[in-house]
Amino acid sequence: MGGGVVGLSCAFELQKRGHQAIVLEIGRCGGQASGAAAGMLAPYSENVEGPDDFFRLCRESLELYPSWRDEVRKVSGRAFEYTGSGSLYIAYHEADRLALEGRRLWQNEHGSGGIVLEGDELFRQEPMLSREVKAALYTPEESHVYAPDYVLALEHACRLTGVQIYEQLGKVSVEEWRSDLIVTSQDGRSFTGDRLVVCSGAWAQELEEVFGIRIPVYPIRGQICAYEAEVKPVQHMVFCNQGYLVAKTNGTLVCGASEDVAGFDTSVTERGIERLRKWNKQAFPFLAEQEPFHRWAGLRPSTQDGFPLLGPLQESAGRVVMAAGHYRNGILLSPVTAQVVADYIDKGGRLPAFAPERFTT
Ligand SMILES: Cc1cc2nc3c(=O)[nH]c(=O)nc-3n(C[C@H](O)[C@H](O)[C@H](O)COP(=O)(O)OP(=O)(O)OC[C@H]3O[C@@H](n4cnc5c(N)ncnc54)[C@H](O)[C@@H]3O)c2cc1C
Repeated sequence: MGGGVVGLSCAFELQKRGHQAIVLEIGRCGGQASGAAAGMLAPYSENVEGPDDFFRLCRESLELYPSWRDEVRKVSGRAFEYTGSGSLYIAYHEADRLALEGRRLWQNEHGSGGIVLEGDELFRQEPMLSREVKAALYTPEESHVYAPDYVLALEHACRLTGVQIYEQLGKVSVEEWRSDLIVTSQDGRSFTGDRLVVCSGAWAQELEEVFGIRIPVYPIRGQICAYEAEVKPVQHMVFCNQGYLVAKTNGTLVCGASEDVAGFDTSVTERGIERLRKWNKQAFPFLAEQEPFHRWAGLRPSTQDGFPLLGPLQESAGRVVMAAGHYRNGILLSPVTAQVVADYIDKGGRLPAFAPERFTT
């Protein structure tokens, strides 16, 4: 259920392993959060507190990316941007330098070759950066994809390996899951199978009543914009505590993103974009002269504890598997999610930290 990056990745992996996968999508594949994402693969910049289970999952996924990318490209026959730019997490105050140093220490122990840059070296690496920036944590391993193209390539890879994809279904409901699996669409068709993998992103909570468990997944709107950039003005992904900037090879500079509680409303507001513009020009003064040419928004599937719901519903005797609630990191987590889901279906096993029933018991 769900044709975003998570559903397509699971379907692709399962199909490769000899299963027959069917994707049921109420709208268009990639038409929600996955197509709106900035595409950053940034486990270190996204996890600043310490090495918890979520960080480990993110890091494992980053490691899987190069071979996963090659496979998706090869099978789909479609190229998509994957840029190993590295990232800079910037700080404006001397006092914040200590926090960067603390992060560098634990992240170095977990696979990052990060270093703290300052002064001439920092501005040599990122020449257009504001001279107000005092230091930055440079993480060479972090990279990014162009999410809309990546999701399209995944969809093609699915189709070409024999995944059946049904789109524009309007409404998809689970009719039966305790003994058999029956899922119906608005036009009266019914679908059945041995397993149901729930990948409905920010809409996963709709299944609370059906499964009789708490599924605290909520939509958090991300407003995001892009500037046109003739010469690549920003060399790395640049993060600060307000957001990020990332230059794409198609000549755009993507800048995100707000975190709004706005229900399922995906509209873009003047206020939301203005806030992004304010910190953008603080980080890169040349942006004061520019207007974003493209603005959009998507709904991140956030969860109560910040961890995704990943694994079987015990009540269903493993017939129903959840893969939802990837919040800010679903593009990054797509390969590892596909692997965890397919491994569970093939071999069993669970990841207790991500157990879907953890909010109920
Ligand atoms: C502005 C923004 C920037 C982001 N940047 C990044 C980033 O840089 N890096 C990163 O890793 N992540 C990023 N994310 C997060 C990432 O986009 C999400 O975590 C990821 O897309 C979630 O994927 P998904 O497949 O679970 O959800 P979605 O892409 O939302 O897909 C869920 C699909 O399920 C469908 N659906 C819903 N209900 C049903 C139903 N009952 N039956 C069938 N289908 C159903 C929906 O129509 C939808 O297509 C960003 C998100 C936003 C909004």
